Amino acid sequence: MKQLLKQYFGYDDFRPGQKKLIDSIMAGRDVLGIMPTGAGKSICYQIPALAMDGTAVVVSPLISLMKDQVTALNQAGIHAAYINSSLTENQICLAFANARQGRYKIIYIAPERLDTPQFYEYSEMADIALVAVDEAHCVSQWGQDFRPGYLNVAAFVGRLEEKGRRPVLCAFTATATKEVKDDMICMLGLKDPNVLVTGFDRENLYFAVERPKDKMKAALGYVTSHAGESGIVYCNTRASVEEVCDMLVEHGVPAARYHAGMSNEERMENQDDFIFDRKPVIVATNAFGMGIDKSNVRYVLHFNMPQSMENYYQEAGRAGRDGAAAQCLLLYAPKDTATNRFLLENKESKKEMTEDERKEILERDLQRLKVMTFYSTTKECLRKYILNYFGETTHCDCHNCGNCDADFEKHDVTELGRQVVNCVYEVRQRFGINIVLGVLRGSKNAKIVRYGFEGLKTYGKLADYAESTLRQVIDALLQEDILIQTADRYPVLCLGNSYGKLKDEQYQLTIKTEVRKSTESGGAAGTGERVGAKGKAKGTLGKGALDDAGFALFEQLRQKRLALAKEERVPPYIVFSDKTLVDMCLKRPRTLEEMLEVSGVGTSKLVKYGEAFLQVIKGA
Ligand code: ADP
Repeated sequence: MKQLLKQYFGYDDFRPGQKKLIDSIMAGRDVLGIMPTGAGKSICYQIPALAMDGTAVVVSPLISLMKDQVTALNQAGIHAAYINSSLTENQICLAFANARQGRYKIIYIAPERLDTPQFYEYSEMADIALVAVDEAHCVSQWGQDFRPGYLNVAAFVGRLEEKGRRPVLCAFTATATKEVKDDMICMLGLKDPNVLVTGFDRENLYFAVERPKDKMKAALGYVTSHAGESGIVYCNTRASVEEVCDMLVEHGVPAARYHAGMSNEERMENQDDFIFDRKPVIVATNAFGMGIDKSNVRYVLHFNMPQSMENYYQEAGRAGRDGAAAQCLLLYAPKDTATNRFLLENKESKKEMTEDERKEILERDLQRLKVMTFYSTTKECLRKYILNYFGETTHCDCHNCGNCDADFEKHDVTELGRQVVNCVYEVRQRFGINIVLGVLRGSKNAKIVRYGFEGLKTYGKLADYAESTLRQVIDALLQEDILIQTADRYPVLCLGNSYGKLKDEQYQLTIKTEVRKSTESGGAAGTGERVGAKGKAKGTLGKGALDDAGFALFEQLRQKRLALAKEERVPPYIVFSDKTLVDMCLKRPRTLEEMLEVSGVGTSKLVKYGEAFLQVIKGA
């Protein structure tokens, strides 16, 4: 298996989990692999497909995904094809004719096609050794992406079984909730599968959250300090996609936009511009991403906070699929929580539900939003927060995220916390954050005057403190469950279950503030600029491994890759990943034999591209 991995994909070792899943498939046992985005699920069925006699049928939900995978396999010297609605009837007939002759090792197919006469006919006589289901959560009605066509899988495998030719069935997804897991096993008809959930940690990703005063300035600073690198900028509304994209383009950034309000044609064109690195930056709503396998995305910048950690981790996970260092930066503003709340309350998909169902779902959504808000405001290790959320208990700080890197000073704010709680109590737990802050800071706001709050004991009690500090105190109280925010349209602050903690003499409520180094102080742009600068200084790609000459060579290799990709009309990352180019800069091979030592260079690509890249290295 390892030899196949090296020969076709040019990698030396399997990643965690891959080997186990492959061994299981080779032993004839069904598997369910749950791995985060970018963990390397494809290789888990591609390697067995190469090792087994017969053909592997891969069920995949998206045309773009299939196309990408097949192009990559063909580049690696593997015979593969896809059959979906992007082909003409003639092309489909031709593909089936080739398939019947056993020309393909791997066939990608849309789930709906499993139930067509042509496919019946083919499967009657074909030697199908393996059926792999990609994005397997699509079979579950619990998941967001339910696709009825996936229900064909069980029937198809059952038919082959009746004939005594049951292939090994394997399924892959990044969704780990219990309902979806049970559904996948049951609805796909997996038999006593070996279920493997690999770690959710993506070590090559650097996580950071910033709270800039001016997001536009911060985004521009960040993107321009990563010039030439490929990145995705996510916004939560179409309007902000337009605004941010226009702003970047005005400043000379080659950016494309993507959202559901555009014509299909324009969306496809912009997606291609991004994939082929003609425009390395794409500004998009969360409509963008599924089926995008672009491996050289070096950063994912969230201009707004998403609605849940699930969404965030999936979107952020699109960075650094090639395993080279990449950054995930979230620009947070308290307003994001309010906007998301509004979006959740007005979700289209909820219109057909009963009042009770709507309420239940909204509550769940708001709980997820709360967890996401905590992520955005915590000063603890961000990776630890993410992993704990996904059920992997870890107590260690990662020393590789914005919070671990920041120089924080801890402050005891127990007394301030008590005053806030007193104020919440005094306004009878009927007002939101703004009024509570206004009272504490002695505001003359009309509402405060009208309600006669000037007479409260806590009125003006914390007038000497900055609003931002008090907001942090409130965040800390919410995290401690001393206060809660109701799920109403205008959320109200109330006492939480743990409010008694404050009565304990020993209890300490703390917040952390960042000690800013004067030369690096982000000013209006906030620390977005700092992460940008840091990325550049460290070299987002080479983790500092590349020196100046190395960077210069990397640029030359990148140009070569772009030229070759244009000639072959494939996306550049399909020629070689960024990580492979970095490894070339480090190893500087002088011969074809040495070139084969570079991670990501298999024999097929060596023959195709080895010489061209050697020339660049020799000339450097
Ligand atoms: P997923 O489907 O889990 O999101 P992919 O299968 O697209 O992830 O793999 C992500 C990237 O990781 C691809 O560029 C792939 O070539 C690379 N990859 C997979 N397995 C390995 C490995 N064992 N060593 C190095 N890179 C790998």
